[in-house]
Amino acid sequence: MSTTHRLALIPGDGIGQEVIPPATAVLDAVGRRHGITFTYDTLDWSCERYAHEGAMMPADGLDRIAGHDAILLGAVGWPGVPDHVSLWGLLIPIRRRFAQYVNLRPIAVFDGVRSPLADASGVDFVVVRENSEGEYSEVGGRVGTDLALQEAVFTRTGVSRIADYAFALAEQRRKHVVSATKSNGIIHSMPFWDEIVAERAARHPDVAWRSEHIDALAAKLVLDPRSIDVIVASNLFGDILSDLAAAVAGSIGIAPSGNLNPEREFPSMFEPVHGSAPDIAGKDLANPLGAIWSAAMLLEHLGHAEAAEEVTAAMRAQLAEGSRTKDLGGDVGTTEFTAQFLARL
Ligand code: ATP
Ligand code: MG
Repeated sequence: MSTTHRLALIPGDGIGQEVIPPATAVLDAVGRRHGITFTYDTLDWSCERYAHEGAMMPADGLDRIAGHDAILLGAVGWPGVPDHVSLWGLLIPIRRRFAQYVNLRPIAVFDGVRSPLADASGVDFVVVRENSEGEYSEVGGRVGTDLALQEAVFTRTGVSRIADYAFALAEQRRKHVVSATKSNGIIHSMPFWDEIVAERAARHPDVAWRSEHIDALAAKLVLDPRSIDVIVASNLFGDILSDLAAAVAGSIGIAPSGNLNPEREFPSMFEPVHGSAPDIAGKDLANPLGAIWSAAMLLEHLGHAEAAEEVTAAMRAQLAEGSRTKDLGGDVGTTEFTAQFLARL
């Protein structure tokens, strides 16, 4: 049985351009074994393009990738180009148009990776962040010179679907969900969030769950991260928790993410958590594992769980016993690391 997938590649800026080729090499290698063929359309959408053309992507950019099976992105952002350009000129339009309302961030501490925690072995959880509404809204504004108002937007549909995703995911894992809240201080939207999460939880009686205030949950992430399986959180809380979680796990260079349209009506987008890292760009220093793990998430999303597992297993083995890039205390460059990884795979 053979399958073909058409992927849109957006290497982007800086090390984004250095980590996408290793990721596609991994896809090709594992694909060959499983009868999966990938075809790629590589797009130059980036801050570099913005500097020449005045836009991160062409006006019909979203139409061009709407029919692809998935999007793999390296990183966008560059010194001198304000963050809101790459955000509003590329990332947010893609997330919105393709209803990528789930931001998924798996966190795992691999043997051989140093976490800032004294003992982080066995940490393995997932942050499910609401990616389409919540605190990051355009509702509000300035009133005169001394007042700013910013409204959070929570809809029944938006909260229900992210909660459903989290509970369904927990069913395939260790069957436990923590919902991040702050209903003692944020008295309108957060009780609404809590209420809907409780309603959706009732449909998954085999999943244990609890609500936890974001401040206490942040502390727990550091003090007792092994107790966590799936976290479901609003846009802002999820943003903060997933960066904290990536730090706990030990390397920004490894962390992957997915912007998912769970219904698979539109393409989902996978990208390493790290940015374009201008300080090391062009020096063959980038750790490609964040992009490679993101490619594994892409495989899983497209229904190739076994192939995805082979990639993460090779990551685990490589980190435990193989050489590593400098950010993880090793001494090989991106190119050499990728060659070794492919050989292992
Ligand atoms: P952004 O604003 O896009 O998030 P940033 O500057 O905040 O970018 P990164 O670009 O992720 O964050 O870089 C943070 C630090 O981590 C930098 O010192 C960078 O060199 C290092 N870093 C990030 N990604 C990698 C990687 N894949 N391999 C090695 N080092 C990395
Ligand atoms: Mg940053």
